[in-house]
Amino acid sequence: MAGNDRCLFCRIAAGEIPAKKIYEDDEIIAFHDINPQAPTHVLVVPRRHVATLDSMNEADAQLIGRLMLRAAQIARDQQLTSDGYRVVVNTGEAAGQTVFHIHFHLLGGRNFGWPPG
Ligand code: 5GP
Ligand code: ZN
Repeated sequence: MAGNDRCLFCRIAAGEIPAKKIYEDDEIIAFHDINPQAPTHVLVVPRRHVATLDSMNEADAQLIGRLMLRAAQIARDQQLTSDGYRVVVNTGEAAGQTVFHIHFHLLGGRNFGWPPG
C-alpha cells in the first residue's frame, strides 16, 4: 500500500523526516520518541499506513505479532528486560493517540504506575 504523504510516520518511514532509528527492516521501523516519557521510549511502527489498532483485522495478525515481538527484542537489546518495561498502543483520541499511524510505545528505565493515567 502506498504511504500517506501527509502522515508523519509515513514520512519518517520514507526517510523524508529524520528520526533516531534503532531498527528497520522491510516491514517495521523503530525509532526514539521525540518527547520521551521514560529513559527509554521507542516507537515500533509498521511501514504500511494503518491508522489505529481498530483499523486492523485478521489479515494483520502476523504484522501485529511481529510488531510486538520486535518490541520485546528491542527491550532485550536495550537491557530493559530484568527490571521490566511497558508496551502501549494508544487507540483513539480519548486514549491519547495523537499520531494516526499505528505505533507501539516501548517504555522502560523507570517504574510505572497502574492504572495508567
Ligand atoms: P501517541 O500520542 O499517538 O500515542 O504517540 C505519538 C508519539 O509520537 C508521541 O509520544 C510523540 O512524542 C511522538 N512524536 C510526535 N512527533 C514526532 C516526531 O516528529 N519524531 C519522533 N521521533 N516522535 C514524534
Ligand atoms: Zn502513515
